[in-house]
Amino acid sequence: MRRIAVLTSGGDAPGMNAAVWAMIKLAAARGIHVIGVEGGYDGLIDGVFQDLTRALDGGGLAPVAGLDWLAGTGGTFLGSSRCPRFRGPEGRARACARLSDADVDGLVVIGGNGSLTGAHLLASECGVPVVGIPASIDNDIGGSTDAIGVDTALNTIIEACDRVSDTARSHHRAFVLEVMGRRSGYLAMASAVAATADAVLLPEQPRDAAETLDQLEDLLRRSFSTDRSKRRVLIIKAEGVPTPTLLLAEQLQGRVEDLENVSVRGIVLGHLIRGGHPTYHDRMMAGRLALAALDALSAGSSDVMAGWQANIGTRTQDPHVSIVSLSDMLTETDRLLDGTSDVTTMRMRLIREVQGVLAL
Ligand code: ADP
Repeated sequence: MRRIAVLTSGGDAPGMNAAVWAMIKLAAARGIHVIGVEGGYDGLIDGVFQDLTRALDGGGLAPVAGLDWLAGTGGTFLGSSRCPRFRGPEGRARACARLSDADVDGLVVIGGNGSLTGAHLLASECGVPVVGIPASIDNDIGGSTDAIGVDTALNTIIEACDRVSDTARSHHRAFVLEVMGRRSGYLAMASAVAATADAVLLPEQPRDAAETLDQLEDLLRRSFSTDRSKRRVLIIKAEGVPTPTLLLAEQLQGRVEDLENVSVRGIVLGHLIRGGHPTYHDRMMAGRLALAALDALSAGSSDVMAGWQANIGTRTQDPHVSIVSLSDMLTETDRLLDGTSDVTTMRMRLIREVQGVLAL
């Protein structure tokens, strides 16, 4: 293998840059040139490439100068896009032709389940081998217990919860705090446990809006009663739960007007969750997944993804990287999202148990 291309696509996730940086360093050390595709699939269709490795005078390759800041930064320096053209066979045929023109022996796609769906189609339609790396703050990618970006996003959410809790406790406030996740409630579920929230609302648990309001009112009344005299109530809500967060906070406020000195506020974290320096865990995972993806391409594999998997058993072991076919991973992704995957069932059981601890 002489030359590969790498792109980042879909929603950006902290740690994408760390994966690209690891790819550049590892490939350069093996004498493999890396070109970066700018702007995800848009840049692939339009052939917008930049060199990420350079030849050294004395022989061998090195990363191009001035990129050594990459690993510690959020976002994606290559840029990303939502690219409707790539959904059609003509767009993908153009992309395939650009890859042949660029004379690459393989393509690495770093992105979420949409990007990896595109990667699967490209791999089956184009002669150039394609390997995926899961990166999405939503943690909704099959075949990988964690995706790049999830850990950083969760730490950002927990810090926001702590900050909001400081002010809430000073004023007997309840906060309804919305986190990203249209179809997947993973961020809401995981952060609710870690931030010791009082309730969590997930898209995977559809609820009647009026009934939810009744339950939340009851939660507030119980929490702020002299019996429990809590000073803070924190309700974490996933974006995909239909009632708008600020409206929900307003409706709740209306329900508890009679409680003296108690107020309810809504807060939407939105894109704040996407940014920021990747955590140790995301950087470390990005490096390991990049190594596995490069190995897979070198071994002649295509239409596969490097996934991060936990180990089961009593022996002490680190999580490991496994290579899964993109087709299997997409089937598992569907199961994750429709709630039939084993891991979703287990996560929902855990959250039900935790809800016994949460007040709702
Ligand atoms: P993410 O990768 O974060 O899930 P998207 O779902 O927006 O983000 O997907 C990113 C891009 O991947 C899309 O803009 C499109 O170019 C490509 N893509 C998504 N779904 C498909 C599909 N079914 N077929 C081909 N390409 C797709």
